[in-house]
Amino acid sequence: MPVETETPMLKQYRQIKARHNDCILFFRLGDFYEMFYEDAKTASRLLDLVLTSRGKGPSNVPMCGIPYHAADNYIARLIKSGLKVAICEQVEDPALAKDIVRRDVIRVISSGTYLDEQSSDTRYLLCLSPGEKETGIAFIDPATGTIYTNQYRDIRQCLEILSRLPVYECIYPISFDEKIKKLFVNHPRFKTKHLMLTAHEDWCFNAEIADKNLREHFRLANLHGFGIQDMRTAVSSCGALLEYLKQMNRQPLRHVDRISLYSDSDYAYISPAAVYGLEIESLFETINNTLSPVGKRTLKFWLLHPLREPAAILNRQDAVTVLKNNSHACKRLRETLSRMPDLEKSISRLSCGYINPKDILSVRNALNLIPELREILKNVETDNNLFRINDIEDLRSLLEKAVNPDMPLTKHEGKVIHKGYNAELDELREIQEHGREWLRNFQQKEIQRTGINSLKVGFNKIFGYYIEITKANLAAVPQNYIRKQTLVNGERFIIQELKEYEDKILNAQDRILKIEDEIILRLRARILEQSDALHEFARQAGQVDALYSLSVLSGLAGYTAPDINDTTVIDIKDGRHPVVEKRLDTPFVPNDTLLDRAENHLVILTGPNMAGKSTYIRQTAILVILAQMGSYIPATSATIGCVDKIFTRIGAHDDIAKGQSTFMVEMNEMADIINNLTDRSLVILDEIGRGTSTCDGLSLAWALAEYLHQTKARTLFATHFHELTALAEDLPGVKNYNVAVKEWEDQIVFLHKIVPGGTDDSYGIYVAKLAGIPQPIILRAKKILTKLEWSQDVRGAVGATDQEAQNPQFDLFLHPGDPVAEELKKQIEAADLNTMTPLEALTFLNLLKTKSERERTKSEKTNRK
Ligand code: ATP
Repeated sequence: MPVETETPMLKQYRQIKARHNDCILFFRLGDFYEMFYEDAKTASRLLDLVLTSRGKGPSNVPMCGIPYHAADNYIARLIKSGLKVAICEQVEDPALAKDIVRRDVIRVISSGTYLDEQSSDTRYLLCLSPGEKETGIAFIDPATGTIYTNQYRDIRQCLEILSRLPVYECIYPISFDEKIKKLFVNHPRFKTKHLMLTAHEDWCFNAEIADKNLREHFRLANLHGFGIQDMRTAVSSCGALLEYLKQMNRQPLRHVDRISLYSDSDYAYISPAAVYGLEIESLFETINNTLSPVGKRTLKFWLLHPLREPAAILNRQDAVTVLKNNSHACKRLRETLSRMPDLEKSISRLSCGYINPKDILSVRNALNLIPELREILKNVETDNNLFRINDIEDLRSLLEKAVNPDMPLTKHEGKVIHKGYNAELDELREIQEHGREWLRNFQQKEIQRTGINSLKVGFNKIFGYYIEITKANLAAVPQNYIRKQTLVNGERFIIQELKEYEDKILNAQDRILKIEDEIILRLRARILEQSDALHEFARQAGQVDALYSLSVLSGLAGYTAPDINDTTVIDIKDGRHPVVEKRLDTPFVPNDTLLDRAENHLVILTGPNMAGKSTYIRQTAILVILAQMGSYIPATSATIGCVDKIFTRIGAHDDIAKGQSTFMVEMNEMADIINNLTDRSLVILDEIGRGTSTCDGLSLAWALAEYLHQTKARTLFATHFHELTALAEDLPGVKNYNVAVKEWEDQIVFLHKIVPGGTDDSYGIYVAKLAGIPQPIILRAKKILTKLEWSQDVRGAVGATDQEAQNPQFDLFLHPGDPVAEELKKQIEAADLNTMTPLEALTFLNLLKTKSERERTKSEKTNRK
């Protein structure tokens, strides 16, 4: 639209949009948020909205809109599409506006600042502050009030730590734009994450300014209390993070009330590949019995951050045991915790300037659970600190008195504040609700006072409320009656009391809303003043809920409390995989695990496909994680010498979209393990070297196994390379195990039982048959297999011109050439008897005989399958 023909409203729109070019601007017009120009085109496409237009011809402006009360849902969809949304509201009373009503952006919502009402999952906003020697990191879930921070020498180390956290947006100084983008884009763990990268003004990262801003925000003389006073890049990252949040929310953000030094040392590290490979998400779904959003977040955190210190683990385990054995307390907790609202999110929303009475109600309802929780936990006889719940009595009783627990959740106007809290409100509501009754009473009172039985109270639009007296009674009218109108048969009067009442009733709704708004703002301020204590309560309640959840799991049949200690022994008897067990219709076969640093630190596990190797090695890692998070585990008994890190290399997954082959992914993951493990780590390897040629793969697997053996990290290595079983002969501490299989009536039965010793049967062709590979291919594969077992020379053994291979319809039974006999023949023909000593000849004969016998049995076995 040419600027000179633009309406004042569109002019205002353009000016505001110019300041928020990187956002979709939600422009408030009446009960709608409207979008114009390119924003309208984008939003209509992403949100399935009808694209209309304003104006005609060349001045046509594309537009689309959404009702303001339904905005949350649309915002969520735009955020998920990787966009930012700026909310622009009227910022002056339209009645007072001289010209067009003033509007401004009151909040910008990005992926990292978005408060997702639909989900209780954690969402982190991260800030990276690269310094000369160190890089500072700070991150916060804006739905909570704690900034976590630390600083590291190596920026890659930061990324490793961060890659396992649910980070949605990363801010960094704009001068590092190129460098940071490159880092994230190339990092194997972040490439697949939908992470919003936001360059932010450099000055926010200045350590002095950051320090000053943090001290001002937390009202502190220095940052010693947070333990970060001398950590300049950490301080810089916290300051920049807080500044960004404030700018986005246009609020001081009182709910951000704590900085906590993020320390990995308290937790066992689960590598990002392990989180994926062990299917921690499904594990969480299986073990989760929490009842509240904050409990769910706590349990998820515990699962991803198993503890390292035996004392801390045993403390949690003790709390779990206490609950497990107290069914009465559990029953009451179940009832109470399921009423616990998402307190943390409500505090954040209030602090970020969303003034929705629902959030105040949610704080009220959460606080009201405190006495119940304290009472239940008092009866749980223990002095375990994990059961502590602090009361916030003053705020609790204030909100109980002030907030109406039955406020309608959608249209709550005028019904937020509880009866009895504010006298004027009560009176206004009384007037609204009992207007007729008041008038009847008033009329009755005046009849009695004046003795005029025909006195009537009425209402008209011009004079409002009046008292009507017939002519015959005019002499009895009291002094304070003021004449307003003369009629044929009488006169109409008003008196002060009726006038006041009229004012009240006519303005009651407006006044009610105004008083409620004032009270809501005061309550909000009181809540935010106590945000520290409220967060602490949320943390404590979340903890109790997570303990409750673990106690439910631990009470299941066949779960046991592991003995946790500082040794390096992992000794599990009859362990089971909790997720696979739950999915199976048949009973799960339990298995033992023994790992230590002396005799059993590298277990080579061989066995047929489908036998249960992967399940077994994952199960071991999962049981260690569960044990170190304080839970009971599915086993008959267990000793867990705590691990510091858990690594896995599991399954082949391509990263083709990012240009990485299966083999490259495999080697990246292996390099990550080798470079980071310690002698207290647990390493789970499921196939190494499968993505390359057999010789390459075997050599790599061999060399890696030797290296792992030296490190003494406790390792379970499942492999198809049977050759690796030879390691056990030379290296002490290497043990061979295999998964037992029973051959019965021409079938193979997978026993899923781990037994000592290696195996050289893989049954791959049998599994292919089960999977539906056509019979001719299976038969051909069996024949090739038999030949290959005699020679490493594939071309020579199978033959590129092999007639059978040329004809896919070949059938061993039509051409029953015995491969064993043919091979023996070949070997005899090739032997030079003239140069052999008698002993050599005898040895040769013996070799032929053993080979012949072995191959004959094998061949028969394969044919049976
Ligand atoms: P592959 O070598 O082909 O990867 P695998 O030996 O690793 O096979 P798994 O994937 O662990 O085999 O297991 C195959 C299936 O066997 C599982 O999906 C599960 O249904 C079943 N299974 C595994 N372990 C057990 C067990 N201990 N008890 C009962 N069933 C099991």
